[in-house]
Amino acid sequence: MEYLPLFHKLDGQPVLVVGAGPVAARKIRLVVAAGAAVTVVAPAACAEVQAAVAAGQVTLVERCYQPNDLDGRALVIVATNFPEVNRQVAGEATARLIPLNAVDAKELCTVIFPSIVDRSPVQIAISTAGTAPVLARLLRTQLEALLPARLGALASLANGFRERVAERIAEPLRKKFWEQVFAGPVAEQSYQGNLDSAERQLAGQLDQFVEQQAGAPQGEVYLVGGGPGDPDLLTFKAVRLMQQADIVLYDRLVSPAVLDKVRRDAELVYVGKRAGDHAVSQENINLKLVEFAQQGMRVLRLKGGDPFIFGRGGEEIATLAEHNIPFQVVPGITAAAGCASYAGIPLTHRDHAQSVRFIAGHLMSGELDLDWAELAKPHQTLVFYMGLSGMETICGQLIAHGAPAGRPAAIIEKGTQPDQRNFIADLATLPAMVRAANAGAPTLLIVGDVVGLHHQLNWYRPSAEPAGAEQ
Ligand code: SAH
Repeated sequence: MEYLPLFHKLDGQPVLVVGAGPVAARKIRLVVAAGAAVTVVAPAACAEVQAAVAAGQVTLVERCYQPNDLDGRALVIVATNFPEVNRQVAGEATARLIPLNAVDAKELCTVIFPSIVDRSPVQIAISTAGTAPVLARLLRTQLEALLPARLGALASLANGFRERVAERIAEPLRKKFWEQVFAGPVAEQSYQGNLDSAERQLAGQLDQFVEQQAGAPQGEVYLVGGGPGDPDLLTFKAVRLMQQADIVLYDRLVSPAVLDKVRRDAELVYVGKRAGDHAVSQENINLKLVEFAQQGMRVLRLKGGDPFIFGRGGEEIATLAEHNIPFQVVPGITAAAGCASYAGIPLTHRDHAQSVRFIAGHLMSGELDLDWAELAKPHQTLVFYMGLSGMETICGQLIAHGAPAGRPAAIIEKGTQPDQRNFIADLATLPAMVRAANAGAPTLLIVGDVVGLHHQLNWYRPSAEPAGAEQ
């Protein structure tokens, strides 16, 4: 370990900055934010430093550096354009054992600035020991994206409860209590900005924990849209809840790559559904969700696409509400959006389609009862979910009700997944093409002039496009 990470309490501490250009200004901003009493020594100052002086944040001494500037400093930063000055300041400060940072001169430094993820009071400092600052910044961006914006609010809330919790719960149970708080509804409420409710819930959870000592938390259900298959299309919120779940109920549409993002030690329960074969009936799923939550578990109901688009999400939360089980619904990218994007088919287009319809295309005892005359009209895009078995009926009815046989139509098989196949044709020829290639579920049928734009816009090419597609 070349450097030991420490957090420096600079509030009110005398800090010297030598140099007052834009590079110095960046460091000045940081030490000012940490509450330091900053003195800047430089013959001339850039506009930002002058503004900080005018705002009373720093004192400017307009002359060259002198050795006695170092007297009584808790930290010295040197950022002039003159390497020999930087070296002199660094040498003298280091000789006096004053922590020294020389900007862009790692070899002179005794302390270095990390990349900072600031969710005060929570802070993450990243360092590559000066070897690859760009990598540090990249990591920072990734962490920024991973961490809830209101993480700091949660830490502050917890701080307000620290003494109360310490008085009422002894170790090692105290640690367990806090783990439950930070991974449960209190955290979720804080992240959503419902701080009053989070505080009430935390107080309630504390009472409950003390009462039970065993500490079973109140269970809840997360109804999460897993998107059409590509795990990169998951929302941050979905991934966070997937990482918290104790038990996961998932169905057939959830891709293995998405399922892979679930917490490793969560229990996985397959409640698969395929056309005509409901492995577990919907009522049974609804009741299982209630049952697991009542046992105190965080239950993840993971669905393909979006839970509220042909996902029966509404029925599932109705049962939860009936039983007073807390729940959250997290939207996902629905198959229409995913397939269309990955096939280069804009669902609406100023010249070709002013509306788009999502239609359930599965046959009910061999038939489909839809307003065909309406659907056959131009200037709209039709997206049929569950339309593979009824594809001949759909295409045939549209033509019978006035749609031109040459209207573009596509079947997208396994959209957004590595083995996605696009079948692009028209109402008259699509069914035969798709049957010949033996396309299998899940597939999405898209009808409308926008499909014709595919050839122009399909930038996405799955790495190995199997034979049979794109004919
Ligand atoms: N809630 C889901 C839809 C469930 S209905 C959503 O919002 O996407 C199931 C139908 O969705 C399938 O029959 C198929 O038509 C479509 N579908 C889901 N994922 C798909 C995918 N990756 N590629 C093509 N179609 C898909």
